Amino acid sequence: MRTEKTACILCSRNCGLAVDIDDGKFVRVRGDEDHPASKGYLCQKAARLDYYQNHADRLQHPLKRQPDGSFVQVSWDEALTDIAARLLAIRKQHGGDAFAFVGGGGQGNHLGGAYSRQLLTAMKSRYAYNALGQEKTGDFWVNGRLFGRQTCHTTEDVEHADYVLFIGCNPYQSHGIPNARDTLRDLRKDPQRTMVVIDPRRSETAKQADIHLQLKPGTDTYLMAALLAIIVRDGLHDRTFLAKHCTGFEQVEQELLAIPVADYVQRADVPLADVERVARGFATARRACVRIDLGIQHTLHTTLNGYLEKLLYLITGNFGRQGGNNLHAYLLPLMGHTDERKKRKGKALKRTAHHQMHPIAGIYPPNILPDEILHPGEDRVRAVFVDSANPLLTYADTDAYERAFQSLELLVVVDVAMTETARLAHYILPAASQFEKWEATGFNLEFPTNFFHLRHPLFAPLGESLPEPEIYTRLLEKMGVMPHFSPLAWVARLEPNLSAHLAYLGALAAMLASHKDWIPYAASLVYRTLGPTLPDGAAAAAPLLPLAVQYATQHYAAVKRAGHEGNRLTLGSTLFHAILAGRSGITLSRHEFADTWSLVKQPDGRIHLAIPEMLNELRALPTELPPSADYPFVLMAGERRSYNANQIFRDPAWRKVDKDGALRMHPDDAKTLELSNGEHALCQSARGEIPVVVEVDDTVRRGMVTLPHGYGQRYKNSTPLGPAVNRLTASDHCDPFSKTPFHKYVPVHIRKVAASVA
Ligand code: SF4
Repeated sequence: MRTEKTACILCSRNCGLAVDIDDGKFVRVRGDEDHPASKGYLCQKAARLDYYQNHADRLQHPLKRQPDGSFVQVSWDEALTDIAARLLAIRKQHGGDAFAFVGGGGQGNHLGGAYSRQLLTAMKSRYAYNALGQEKTGDFWVNGRLFGRQTCHTTEDVEHADYVLFIGCNPYQSHGIPNARDTLRDLRKDPQRTMVVIDPRRSETAKQADIHLQLKPGTDTYLMAALLAIIVRDGLHDRTFLAKHCTGFEQVEQELLAIPVADYVQRADVPLADVERVARGFATARRACVRIDLGIQHTLHTTLNGYLEKLLYLITGNFGRQGGNNLHAYLLPLMGHTDERKKRKGKALKRTAHHQMHPIAGIYPPNILPDEILHPGEDRVRAVFVDSANPLLTYADTDAYERAFQSLELLVVVDVAMTETARLAHYILPAASQFEKWEATGFNLEFPTNFFHLRHPLFAPLGESLPEPEIYTRLLEKMGVMPHFSPLAWVARLEPNLSAHLAYLGALAAMLASHKDWIPYAASLVYRTLGPTLPDGAAAAAPLLPLAVQYATQHYAAVKRAGHEGNRLTLGSTLFHAILAGRSGITLSRHEFADTWSLVKQPDGRIHLAIPEMLNELRALPTELPPSADYPFVLMAGERRSYNANQIFRDPAWRKVDKDGALRMHPDDAKTLELSNGEHALCQSARGEIPVVVEVDDTVRRGMVTLPHGYGQRYKNSTPLGPAVNRLTASDHCDPFSKTPFHKYVPVHIRKVAASVA
């Protein structure tokens, strides 16, 4: 038995853990008191991590699909040689646009992303599809317009706010804020502070709130617009802040003043007096912030919702200060920036062949991928690489994904486990688990203090599985796109110390300056050259050296404030060494609140409030028709509960409760349908139908039902376990702007059936 430090990989908080390990198993999981961000905090899910590490669906060898659909074990060399040859043949015959890369990441495995993205360059393709493209790109696009770049991502200082608006989120279950349950408890217990929850369900967070606005599903846009209109109408906006830091307020104000407040509040079906109270309370609070999540990002008017929630804290001046919303720095970038100005400069944004969809933050929306594969044109997508993702269950429209992936000339899946997507692949490449390799999360999204945790391997890779850096570097070598390394061969003799790393960086920069075509493969290049010199086999962490240098250069004073020693030349290397040594994670930087203005990327340093596309959509709201009454219920799909996570857990034994992933329904609705707890029903949308088990629950509104995400897997080739919610979702039921799906607004019928029928 030994005790090691690591982190939880089940949500974006990535809490630090101290784990007792014996015989290849987690036997005890505790919060790591030494972790600088979570400080010992954790929730009940982390205790179940052994169900991720050890289960019957783990992959151990490269597998090749046979014509009859079965798989045979092949060597790495055979698999990668054939995959490389087939990729190159497709590129040669059809061009790079015939290739798409899907996934790459998850809640804690982002280090491999630096390596896998190189494959897109090798294939001369830009088609990167991932979960951010079905959740967050509307938000990123708004950020780009407001703050100057789509990488300008905001965070919220809930811990220090006097007034917090939680809109479309349930931090008690989905976390997303520092040490969520402790933070909520502190908010609740302090009579000087106010917590408001806007959610159609009386969620675990809403139960703790001072005010809960239990709005009708799909009306968040109206309610936020009404809040903004009241603030402006009553002159509660922060004129000094707006004059000093923003442009375009006059246009926004004009639109907000035209909003029919009473009508919008009526559409949301909440008391007008409560809405007025919240508007006044939020606008006049000393320090206030807004925390949002998928509840408004997966429902009607997704992108507009992102705009309105940001206007709430911007027009009240709750930005760039403690207790407000702020921009943050990041070490490992999760998204890029798609320059819309290309359109204006006469250059075209890269659009997809069928939907003519442009990327946002460098990402394309998974909702359109099946059509891009299935459309009959010569320019269709023919080969797909899926990495650390299970699109068949997690993206909208499972049926469409099945048909599309079955039609591909080449589908390769890199994963830890045999997933539903892997079953359709031509090749399955086994990845080491997140506890069998050097790994890190890119969810370092904090401000003013930011953290980073490089995790070391706790176990040897299972069977022949390999870490992603090795898989992709070998594949690129097979494809013949990797540079010849001899100019950096001397690095193998380096001691892993500060001066050696400075010398290495100088040589690397000089080499890349004279071989610009090698720059896209820099991750594998440093992995193969610097990597072997790093201590404890941390080769995969080699690309963090240039990233640490970049971070220290951009945030010099903040990095120094976090206690890292060095001058402008050496600070980045010092930071890199601290990352390598810090088993519990490290504090990267300590900014001051005023620094948030240095993170705004508009040329004039101001926030550009008027976004014409959003103001047009806002203006059109009054004429919007109410949703069709053809379906009596609105399903909110993908609810976060006590024992669901993403698809990372496959063994159903991990759940202590809610093994069926029950459909929650209001008692009055259940009575009307003659349904009671544990009875079976069919849930039917315009797209499909799935069996469900009913749980009568008065926390949901009448007329709405909820289902959790993270179910529907076929563990050990079983039938689907629990609701496969994306059999109900349609890819064209989405935000027209970002193409992100309306998972929280799926019109459905519910019909009682006998268990045998279900
Ligand atoms: S809050 Fe998230 S990261 Fe922390 S223990 Fe729970 S699931 Fe894991």
